[in-house]
Amino acid sequence: MEVREIKKPYKPRNQDNEIRNFQHVKILDCNEPVHRIIFECWHCKQGLLSEVEGVSLQTLDVPCPSCGRTAIKLMANKVISTTPIPSPWQA
Ligand SMILES: [Zn+2]
Repeated sequence: MEVREIKKPYKPRNQDNEIRNFQHVKILDCNEPVHRIIFECWHCKQGLLSEVEGVSLQTLDVPCPSCGRTAIKLMANKVISTTPIPSPWQA
């Protein structure tokens, strides 16, 4: 079996922007093939629950069902579903 070391980490385009701002993200079922990720939309702060498959070096844009813009960028193979939920971070 061939083992290859990946030396080039993925660098987001607007890295500065993402470091300065803050986004709530909670990952559940990390040990399962399908993870559930709870987060708030980057733009409209809608609480969202996404089911994603695998962990990948590619980044997927997850569209927000509420405002239609990119809610979050996830490093995953596939986004199975995105469901609006009440945000756990908003009282
Ligand atoms: Zn939104």
